[in-house]
Amino acid sequence: MSQRLLVLGSTGSIGDSILDVVARNPEEFTVHGLTAHRRMDKLYQQCLKFRPVLAVVSEPHHAIELQAHLLAAGLRTEVYCGVDALCAIAGASDHDTVIAAIVGAAGLLPTMSAVRAGKKILLANKEALVMSGALFMQLANLSGATVVPVDSEHNAIFQCLQDPRGVERLLLTASGGPFWTWPEQALAAVTPAQACAHPNWTMGRKISVDSATMMNKGLEVIEARWLFDIEVKRIDVLIHPQSIVHSMVVYQDQSVLAQLGNPDMRIPIAHALAYPRRIPSGALPLDLAAIATLTFERPDMQRFPCLALALEALKSGAEACVMLNGANEVAVEAFLAHRIRFTDIWGVIEHVLQGTPACSINSIDDVLCVDQQARRVGAQVIGQYAR
Ligand code: NAD
Ligand code: MG
Repeated sequence: MSQRLLVLGSTGSIGDSILDVVARNPEEFTVHGLTAHRRMDKLYQQCLKFRPVLAVVSEPHHAIELQAHLLAAGLRTEVYCGVDALCAIAGASDHDTVIAAIVGAAGLLPTMSAVRAGKKILLANKEALVMSGALFMQLANLSGATVVPVDSEHNAIFQCLQDPRGVERLLLTASGGPFWTWPEQALAAVTPAQACAHPNWTMGRKISVDSATMMNKGLEVIEARWLFDIEVKRIDVLIHPQSIVHSMVVYQDQSVLAQLGNPDMRIPIAHALAYPRRIPSGALPLDLAAIATLTFERPDMQRFPCLALALEALKSGAEACVMLNGANEVAVEAFLAHRIRFTDIWGVIEHVLQGTPACSINSIDDVLCVDQQARRVGAQVIGQYAR
């Protein structure tokens, strides 16, 4: 029987790659549901192609329009709207697998709902895990949810993890982003367009800016800490500008396993979709002789302080991780809106992290409370920086 998929965030960059792999393997998958925030034209086209049972959007007027268009096209797809519907549907029983591909904190509640329901979860929405780390993994253990990472580094580690008991270290690779070779004083003048032009990957705008500040790698260290239940001191970051080695696992005997491939998200996505089997992804074969050189360097936390801030937050605890994530989201948004400079992003986060969390985290409600606080304080700091 084919696997029934619910794609949360189907109109994004990960959503595109998921649906591309699905279209290449039609006998393997049925698209049960698609969800999107704003891009209704794109969601409509996806519905025409994949004929899902349901679709979820954020705004009521979008739901009404989309429903009318789909009916006119002869489709019976039911359109729902709002976060409550998204959560109810993520936890419902008529699909097997949930692809968590919403960007940012907006993905937390629907992803947690799928975790609670014990689904197979393809996790792209790293912010959900950064915000709820221990709670997320405890709930997955209780419900029997299978979490398969889609993030290329974590998917690589997942593929290289033969015997978790023998692991000594994880080596997370990082491209370094578009500014890895830039001098420190040039970073203040970086524009959103420059920050979104990643040398190796085409991604959504938020994660592109995160890659440029290297906050993405910080979030990924936190993600790895929870996914693989490993202390932060046993996770190393290694700059690898070619993005061919997607990460590595060092075992106690000093054997190192790596996963390689072209930088194409369809590779980890195909692995995660079909796990534990293998299916075609559409990616080009890896031509190592043409690439010829693979290089590795240590990260520079002086020029890219976001990585250091994330490591500190992880050492401080759950509250600091939520504050880090919330502050980063509002700062990146303000940078993309030309309100603050690129180099102000880490100023905002540092300021927010100096505050005292409104409560200690024991539940998802506590996570939401600290997230709101971080956004409030972040907005105040942005107001001071804003041009
Ligand atoms: P994107 O901006 O291209 O797409 C985001 C998706 O989320 C869209 O479908 C959008 O409609 C939906 N969305 C946004 N805000 C929403 C809201 N408030 N409510 C409901 N839906 C909302 O982002 P992306 O690059 O596809 O990234 C998605 C997630 O995957 C992120 O967490 C990112 O860190 C992670 N990720 C992405 C890549 C990549 O190559 N793009 C790689 C690794 C991990
Ligand atoms: Mg990644």
